[in-house]
Amino acid sequence: MSLQIVRSVAELRAVLRPVRLSERSIGLVPTMGAFHDGHRSLMQRAAECNDLVVVSLFVNPTQFGRDEDLSKYPRNEARDAAIAEAAGVDVLFAPPVEEVYPDGHATSISVGGVTDSLEGAHRPGHFDGVATVVAKLFNMVQPDVAYFGQKDAQQALVIRKLVRDLDIPVRVEICPTVREADGLAMSSRNAYLDDHDRIQAVALRRALDAAERVVERGERDAEQVSAAARAVLAEHAIEPEYVALVGPETLTPVQRVDGEVLMALAARVGPARLIDNTILSAPDATPEPAA
Ligand code: AMP
Repeated sequence: MSLQIVRSVAELRAVLRPVRLSERSIGLVPTMGAFHDGHRSLMQRAAECNDLVVVSLFVNPTQFGRDEDLSKYPRNEARDAAIAEAAGVDVLFAPPVEEVYPDGHATSISVGGVTDSLEGAHRPGHFDGVATVVAKLFNMVQPDVAYFGQKDAQQALVIRKLVRDLDIPVRVEICPTVREADGLAMSSRNAYLDDHDRIQAVALRRALDAAERVVERGERDAEQVSAAARAVLAEHAIEPEYVALVGPETLTPVQRVDGEVLMALAARVGPARLIDNTILSAPDATPEPAA
């Protein structure tokens, strides 16, 4: 089946109705377009596991702050459609803003708890915009499974909480972060980087690497692990917005790296605001030396 581009909710429902009636599974990949291999990996995973794949392409204005990059956000629907088709996507749902937020739209969903820290603290209102649009997309598409990237670790937790708290009948699958050859996490916002910024941007992954290395060598103190990452950022003249070690489910700060800890960071590089994360993993207890 070749890719079908759909603009309205009514048309989307008409296309999906026979699929649902014949009990074929529907996978959804929500995106803002400007596709890269990270998006492609989610589409391929969805295509592997479902009878029909819907990708939504919607640059959601309500998740951008007033001073953020909404008007500059990269857009190229023709290129995106070609990538989606090659990845095995059946339906590209690319509605205009008025279709998603018609005049008089006045409802917003606010997920509590996991939105307080990290991105939530630095981008007020961002996750209300994300939760609201994703809930709407879930209602429009009614997918069996929805695919998100670990690159946006906090967003993934917000979506899981949204689904749990509102009893939305969708399974959420989180896929690994896809990276450039030098380690930079793929992001549509990497398009803002010039050659100099691009070199500097690798520091984010290197900072996470440095943290992983000190944990491997036995460091457990969160301050020290964070300091190792900050030192790498400083070497590359990057001042982070945050470098945080938090519980991977709660996102509350930890003092020590025991078991699994999410290390997340955000920094401005040139005109781009970039985020990245890794799971630091330390055995809970030092194993007994072999007899
Ligand atoms: P976006 O278009 O940036 O809103 O991203 C759409 C989906 O792709 C989200 O679930 C992101 O977490 C995911 N994503 C973005 N970048 C990557 C990446 N480098 N690797 C894996 N998933 C990604």
